[in-house]
Amino acid sequence: MVTYVQDFAQGSMEQKDLLGGKGANLAEMTRLGLPVPPGFTITTEACRYYLRNGKVPTDLRVEVTQAVRRLEAAMDRRLGDFHEPLLVSVRSGAKFSMPGMMETVLNIGLNDASVQGLAELAGDERFAWDSYRRLVQMFGKTVLGIDGDVFAAELDAAKRAAGVASDSELGADAMRALTTRFKEIVKEQTGRDFPQHPREQLDLAIVAVLESWNTERAMLYRRRERIPHDIGTAVNICTMVFGNLGENSGTGVAFTRDPATGRPGDYGDYLPNAQGEDVVAGIRNTLPLSALEEINADAYAELRSVMRRLENHYRDLCDIEFTIEQGTLWMLQTRVGKRTAPAAFRIAAELEREHVITLDEALLRVSGEQLSQLMFPQFDPRAVDTVLLTRAMSASPGAAVGHCVFDSETATEWAARGEKVILVRRETNPDDLAGMIAAEGILTARGGKTSHAAVVARGMGRTCVVGADALDVDPVAREFRVRVRAQEGREASEYVVAEGDLIAIDGGTGDVYLGDVPVIPSPVTTYLTDGLDAALAAAGEGDAGDDTRALVHAVDLLLHHADETRRLGVEANADTGDDARRARSLGAEGIGLTRTEHMFLGERRVLVERVILAGDDDARDAALAELLPLQRADFVELLEAMDGLPVTIRLIDPPLHEFLPDLTDLSVRVALAQERGESGPEVDRDHELLAAVRRMHEANPMLGLRGVRLGLVVPGLFALQIRAICEAQADLLAAGKDPRAQIMVPLVASVMELHLVRDVAEQIMAEVGAERGIELALEVGAMLELPRAALTADRIAEASDFFSFGTNDLTQTTWGFSRDDVEGAFFSQYAANGVLTVSPFESIDTRGVGRLVRIAVEEARAAKPSLTFGVCGEHGGDPELIRFFDAVGLDYVSCSPFRVPVARLEAGRAAIEAAGSGKASDSR
Ligand code: ADP
Ligand code: MG
Ligand code: MG
Repeated sequence: MVTYVQDFAQGSMEQKDLLGGKGANLAEMTRLGLPVPPGFTITTEACRYYLRNGKVPTDLRVEVTQAVRRLEAAMDRRLGDFHEPLLVSVRSGAKFSMPGMMETVLNIGLNDASVQGLAELAGDERFAWDSYRRLVQMFGKTVLGIDGDVFAAELDAAKRAAGVASDSELGADAMRALTTRFKEIVKEQTGRDFPQHPREQLDLAIVAVLESWNTERAMLYRRRERIPHDIGTAVNICTMVFGNLGENSGTGVAFTRDPATGRPGDYGDYLPNAQGEDVVAGIRNTLPLSALEEINADAYAELRSVMRRLENHYRDLCDIEFTIEQGTLWMLQTRVGKRTAPAAFRIAAELEREHVITLDEALLRVSGEQLSQLMFPQFDPRAVDTVLLTRAMSASPGAAVGHCVFDSETATEWAARGEKVILVRRETNPDDLAGMIAAEGILTARGGKTSHAAVVARGMGRTCVVGADALDVDPVAREFRVRVRAQEGREASEYVVAEGDLIAIDGGTGDVYLGDVPVIPSPVTTYLTDGLDAALAAAGEGDAGDDTRALVHAVDLLLHHADETRRLGVEANADTGDDARRARSLGAEGIGLTRTEHMFLGERRVLVERVILAGDDDARDAALAELLPLQRADFVELLEAMDGLPVTIRLIDPPLHEFLPDLTDLSVRVALAQERGESGPEVDRDHELLAAVRRMHEANPMLGLRGVRLGLVVPGLFALQIRAICEAQADLLAAGKDPRAQIMVPLVASVMELHLVRDVAEQIMAEVGAERGIELALEVGAMLELPRAALTADRIAEASDFFSFGTNDLTQTTWGFSRDDVEGAFFSQYAANGVLTVSPFESIDTRGVGRLVRIAVEEARAAKPSLTFGVCGEHGGDPELIRFFDAVGLDYVSCSPFRVPVARLEAGRAAIEAAGSGKASDSR
């Protein structure tokens, strides 16, 4: 039978699919005996039914009735009762947290009669009317679709009339008048009265929550976070507890560790005399959690012990919502909290040190993507020439520089035309999502680390600074004003920063600067390139320095563990000595791909032209002979940089006409010269060139004369490169070094092609060996980048010492896509109509391309067990690809130097996942 309703007391945290994250965790806390207000969950089954059929299942009505009655019995109160009303909240909650994206309605069950009952019950008129006006306001906005600003404007007017600054200063009469006014608004805007019947309120609110699954902002959020659209949300019906019952009540949000830095210790925001929405909305400035200790030491102590219990139970950073009703603590939500990249590393490492999780688990809790975020450059603290406008709260790290914009639309527009922007708001709300995505960084004047801006920015890995209350933001005038105190050599003054002005925000420190600020390498990059001691020494003073040191230690611990655990080797794609040295310092264990084509460009282009245009063998040999020392020097530099490690050099791959002038340009030049009757050696050369370009013109060069085909057809070209490699190897051997060059042949389709190249290579090795009096035995291997090569890899193995998959060409030829032609032309359409969920050029197509890889590895290995396999495509650092190639049994992956640490980490995670030795974490 399908379950549409389940009480909190029946469920557990394993049931996220059915109950959503919020419902499953409310059930788990109930099971643990923590103080959770009783309630029940309408399951995602009901939502999926609603999404399919446009109405709620008929059984649901009955099940809700029964659940409400159980709740009434347990609480000994009745929903909307005149005397002792039971009130509930109706709360969205999907499997994956979508902060602020869907709706929640509080205080369901209040009406003109029960508001009196609530007043009597609480002995507090003001509280009862405050609760009722909140219901009309929230219900009007989220259920009836009335513009929330209409209510907000009335509230502001009431505060002005009373001459007070905050909602909590409005008295009972003002709240009653507001409620009446709000109900009039409902009548004016919808043509009907605010529904008085509690069950009608409940049913309408449930449908509104179900509907909120498919609002535009919720869909946009899901697309970004890759959350499926068809899983639906659960709806939680939860007995109300009241944080707005006077000064001994309040509401807050807390973390068991700092989600921005990972620093241990409770952390959060508290608002006395308020209901939950007030904290998240950032409309009132909150107190730090520690302030609760002074307000109510007992409640604070109890909260801390609950938080410790939750962290031990979930074995991870927990994020909670709580309310204190007249001194009594109630838990309203918990989940494994989102965190920034530095916090993820630090928390994982420190939980391991506290023996709460194993090292394997710790490694699974961080990702290569997070590591790459830690490698971003940071602002230079010594940059003196800038004005520090203010120092606010760090919410999400990074160093962002951009032009100020003051609304979401402008942010998206400017970003679309290529401008970098910083979105500056008093506070953000879910409608700002598009602008937040478009911006480099987000800066708000209000709200704490748990405000909407902070939570969403952290989730997206976007730089964010919040609570900059020194800023007076005027979105209408599109500017902000800020008084800056005297700084070194500068007098105090007021700055007006307008739309378009450059500012820089530091999400790690909370600093906001005027103008551009230079950046320096991050401490993690310093660690990766110069080692632990250098990075520790470079970390600054004070708390920030301590955070940096803790982070560097965490990265060190987890990366080491990844290196010890991983089965895959990690090499780099590098074409120059500089690249090779950088790759090596970042931990590359060799070069998996050196492209040689760039070695034929620049000043050497004329030599290549001479090779192509050579009338006879002698002319060609002469041109090739001039190229030889140049190529040899290239290889010497690479082999020296990678001394002791393999360097896989791919022979020239692209079609030769890529080294000749463009056909149209050349035709014009020749035609002009002809018209002017010019002559001479240059004109003759142009004529010859034009003929050659015409001769070599191909309709489809990607599938034409390139790779090994070119090597076999143009005599001497491959031989030149192989000789240069052999001589470089010999030179370094003679110098006492340990060079390990390997020769890689591109675009092989048939074993015969490789045999022919191999014969040439062996002959040259013998020649050079004889000349130098040494023995040269370089490995010769093939790139597997054509379907035929993969399918006949067992035969090609005869002539090969190693294989390396070129995933880019293999993807192009398997799909029959020419990447340059298809990506711009129709991939967006293919994504829209569902043919492609992700571009096969971004992540490997395991079904098709992956199947060819599998066949090649299995069959070639069976034929020749000594073969080694690598991959050197563009997506070498992609986690999906690494997991796949680890599973297939490759020996190494090769990626760009900067991605090497990322690949090391991901390869470690892949090995742990393959062994099943760490529990996978629900990282979303
Ligand atoms: P979100 O998913 O956007 O956080 P929630 O369903 O958690 O939405 O609710 C919004 C706010 O209302 C939160 O601060 C929450 O703590 C508060 N809240 C929800 N239900 C209750 C309740 N039964 N009693 C008191 N406060 C509640
Ligand atoms: Mg919540
Ligand atoms: Mg290729």
